[in-house]
Amino acid sequence: MKPEVISATLIKMVNHKYLRKLLAKKVDNYVYKSIVNDDSEDLQQVRLKRYQFLSAMLHCVIRNVDKGSISKEVIKKIIDVLVQNNLMEGDQSYDQAVEKFKENYGEPPPSFIVFSPTQKCNLKCVGCYASSAANTPATVPYSYVDRVVSEVHDCWGSRFITISGGEPFMYKSEGKTLLDIYQKYNDMFFLVYTNGTLIDEEVAECLAKSPNVTPAISVEGFEKETDQRRGAGTHKKILNAFECLRQAGVPFGISATATSKNTDILLTDEFYDFYFEKQGACYMWQFQLMPIGRGKDEINLMVNPQKRLQLYRKWEKLLSEKKYCIADFWNSGVLTRGCIAYGRSGGYAYVDWNGNVTPCAFIPYYVDNIYDLYNNGKTLSDAMFSDFMKNGRKWQNEYGLDNWKKPKNWLMPCSIRDHYEIFRNSVLPKNARPEDEKAREALESDEYFEVLKNYDKELEGLTEKIWENEYLNV
Ligand code: SF4
Repeated sequence: MKPEVISATLIKMVNHKYLRKLLAKKVDNYVYKSIVNDDSEDLQQVRLKRYQFLSAMLHCVIRNVDKGSISKEVIKKIIDVLVQNNLMEGDQSYDQAVEKFKENYGEPPPSFIVFSPTQKCNLKCVGCYASSAANTPATVPYSYVDRVVSEVHDCWGSRFITISGGEPFMYKSEGKTLLDIYQKYNDMFFLVYTNGTLIDEEVAECLAKSPNVTPAISVEGFEKETDQRRGAGTHKKILNAFECLRQAGVPFGISATATSKNTDILLTDEFYDFYFEKQGACYMWQFQLMPIGRGKDEINLMVNPQKRLQLYRKWEKLLSEKKYCIADFWNSGVLTRGCIAYGRSGGYAYVDWNGNVTPCAFIPYYVDNIYDLYNNGKTLSDAMFSDFMKNGRKWQNEYGLDNWKKPKNWLMPCSIRDHYEIFRNSVLPKNARPEDEKAREALESDEYFEVLKNYDKELEGLTEKIWENEYLNV
């Protein structure tokens, strides 16, 4: 099926209530056949998980279209931007940009960036990575934000950007907000991580008018856990944001950081039923707290390997049985053929509020900075070819990207969290600088090194057999 036909079928499915179920089944079958039945590339179980994820995404969207909480116009835009231009790579300007990039650099560009243009935030969450220099929060000037987005759009052919923070709805510079960026690049799709407390009726209406944005709102659990970490009254504001977004027809998701404190809630069905069924979330991104710094409190907040494995099993069930569209940066490595950092093709790089370019939002070390790059006639693309980025991609290739039929264990895909010793010895170059004081402390702490090394050993012991029995030998 050609991208145009898929696109037309999806649009028909949205418009015609009575045909919806039938067409959804047709699309689901097509996705199954094209992913699971094609055994030329990945392991069978890897293909199956990828199908289950896309199938769950389809189900979650249909569920909310049925309920009337996503507007048809927004869905059409998503289909145009995400399905036709991006996922199916049916856009000529995409092909041209990739070819030109390959001519210049010898390999394809990254697929997107995660960008945190401001460190400003209206909350003070316990353990937040953005809050360490809270007195003078940094903000990237609008002209530089525009330049970065334009480079990603024109030179990488990318039509997708993730915005993080700080709180993106606090961003203001040169009389502009990020809404100006969303409107200017209206053929791109923006996933925006937000605490949700600034989304009211007016903001939701604005988002509905530029329907290329979906907010992913952070929760820690239910009201008690969310307010404990994010401040009293936060959860009520989040529920109000959900209501405003439903009224305006804007699809939204949630994001949750798993810690040793809330894992038990994240292992219950109630948590997911509440946000997906009752509140109308279309997707959920899960993160597991990555401790940075030598602070014992923070290290103790890390989810231990046994609990991580339980979360992996939970994720499998939620995807296949409940059809909730959920991905976890550490447990869902099979969806993306492992780590997606270091500007690899199909992956991304991160730009923080100081303009530092790091391989991933969870790797707080950098070599390049966008101000230095642009002021010296260079580009963000050039930053993808530092030793740091190249070492990371070499590791990714050796780990599994070069051999999809027999990759190493993608249940522990993370270069920094799951392979810390290798990260320190072979990936992180001497000229890499820490993003902040905590990142420096982590680098200098023998204890931190030992904790992560032991974590990795334990995780390997728990997952290696599963990888062999449930993926390699099936
Ligand atoms: S470095 Fe870790 S967290 Fe970052 S993309 Fe790779 S696997 Fe994910």
